[in-house]
Amino acid sequence: MNSLSLSRFTEKYEGGRFDLLVIGGGITGAALAYEAASRGFATALVEKEDFGGATSAATGKLIHGGLRYLQQFEIPLVRESLRERRILSNIAPNLVYPYPIVLPDPNLLVRLGLVFYDILSFDRKRTWDKGKRIPGHRMLPRDEARAAVPGGGSGRAILYYDCLCISPERLTLGFLKSAAAHGAVMANYAETERLLFQGNRVRGASVRDRITGKTVEITAAVTVNATGPWTQSLLNRDKKTEAPLPKKRSEGIYLVTKKLTDTMVLYVGSHGHFSFAPWRGRSLIGPTEKSYYGSVDDWKVSRESVDEFLEVINRAADLPEKLTRKDVVYAYGGLRPLVETEAEDTYTASRRSDLHDHEADGIQGLITAAGGKYTTSREFASQIFRHVARKTEKRPGPPVSKRRFLHGCDIPDIEKFVAEAVKGNGDFGANTVEYLACHYGTEYGAVLEMARSSRELARPVNDDGEILAEALFALRHESARTLADIFLRRTGLGTLGDPGGKVIAAAAKLAARELGWTAKRTAAETAALKRLIAVPK
Ligand SMILES: Cc1cc2nc3c(=O)[nH]c(=O)nc-3n(C[C@H](O)[C@H](O)[C@H](O)COP(=O)(O)OP(=O)(O)OC[C@H]3O[C@@H](n4cnc5c(N)ncnc54)[C@H](O)[C@@H]3O)c2cc1C
Repeated sequence: MNSLSLSRFTEKYEGGRFDLLVIGGGITGAALAYEAASRGFATALVEKEDFGGATSAATGKLIHGGLRYLQQFEIPLVRESLRERRILSNIAPNLVYPYPIVLPDPNLLVRLGLVFYDILSFDRKRTWDKGKRIPGHRMLPRDEARAAVPGGGSGRAILYYDCLCISPERLTLGFLKSAAAHGAVMANYAETERLLFQGNRVRGASVRDRITGKTVEITAAVTVNATGPWTQSLLNRDKKTEAPLPKKRSEGIYLVTKKLTDTMVLYVGSHGHFSFAPWRGRSLIGPTEKSYYGSVDDWKVSRESVDEFLEVINRAADLPEKLTRKDVVYAYGGLRPLVETEAEDTYTASRRSDLHDHEADGIQGLITAAGGKYTTSREFASQIFRHVARKTEKRPGPPVSKRRFLHGCDIPDIEKFVAEAVKGNGDFGANTVEYLACHYGTEYGAVLEMARSSRELARPVNDDGEILAEALFALRHESARTLADIFLRRTGLGTLGDPGGKVIAAAAKLAARELGWTAKRTAAETAALKRLIAVPK
């Protein structure tokens, strides 16, 4: 397959009305842009930073039913999530995989919950790729339970399955590329400064392209505010749509450490849960659940949050050695765009998504879409789209998003696809080809082609066999505009901690050449990336 190049439409925009303007390029906005464009709506999407770089990059990578939501009797949400888990593993087979999870010391309630979870996922074996069928839960034999849990545990544990997305960042990009393949236009680093009004009708938005400095007015029949934790900030840019800011938000962070378990182990307490998940030869530990009272723009992973979490981990898990800051190679996280912020405890607040049509407040042409889980974003997007379509005179085409592979993911049998890719590209290491086949799907050949043009681009730079050609591909075809875009969202080069000065310098040189950066800009980009990947001190 020829790779598709994402270009930034705001650089050349000279007017023209869209059916739909989506503000926010997280998974909600990306899935909505795909849904609308694939059903024949002229669609534009603007994102103030990088695509999928906020909450959608803060996840635990789980594509899951959400076993714990059964405790809160959120049965429709769990069923919807389990259905979407299967759909995502169908339409993005190279990115979403069944993932075993061990639950130590399950009580009767948990055991009953898992029986119900299996019943609710009755269609889990109806996958396009037979290798993606999800088994039901089972009690582990004592020796297996002891081997799975750090410190051995009590010898009582249950094994059940959900799915893991190996790169939510690239899955969000997959939705955007699918939208672009259907004619949607989009731009990262394009910030909506204000909504445009004609009386009480929103007719689009005034958007500042942060790369060119140019401001453009983008008009559309319907505008959707899909700005996640910034929902109210966008609405508060105009008196007509003022909305109270949530008093508190829920922060969640993850730590990447040396590898501690071979299977994901989930610890559940009354006020939270966290897991050790094996990930790219390391462990991914999280999430936390902590109230945050500051502004969304000021939020970042703090040293205090890392230290507090290390204490919780050391208390809850019987690790052979205490985890310390030295074991943490990378930390990331975000704020949950919760819907029911008045809930006393952010842990028990609902993860349901929320669609608000501002017609109820006398404002036409504006919809706010907030909350939810990454897992349910495709379904949420199709709900939002149905609502949008009802507000226009246009007849939508048939829905395709759950029936077709995403762009670059047209792979009926992933095991066979990877094996053939490795066999057919013997000039590269097997781990490099495997990594690229899984992360880039049918576009992996385009990355390898670039690598064949230079030895430097083809040299593996980490244990996964990642190569610098991915950086060039990101710059030329995936709208990467900063070093952080390259290291944290297009590739996995920076998500295991500091990849080393040489790798950063080589990618910076490529970016400077491709984007025309000055030496000063290159130095600033390098410093910014180093700050982002460092564990907070
Ligand atoms: C710690 C944590 C762990 C999680 N783990 C999971 C998990 O394992 N599985 C799961 O299913 N879900 C998980 N979730 C939930 C999931 O991440 C979110 O539901 C989902 O990412 C929300 O996506 P979104 O597009 O609505 O928001 P976002 O990803 O935040 O996107 C909103 C975008 O709008 C942009 N924006 C804001 N203002 C403007 C403006 N003025 N102009 C243009 N753009 C603007 C922002 O820059 C941002 O990129 C987790 C959430 C957190 C916080």
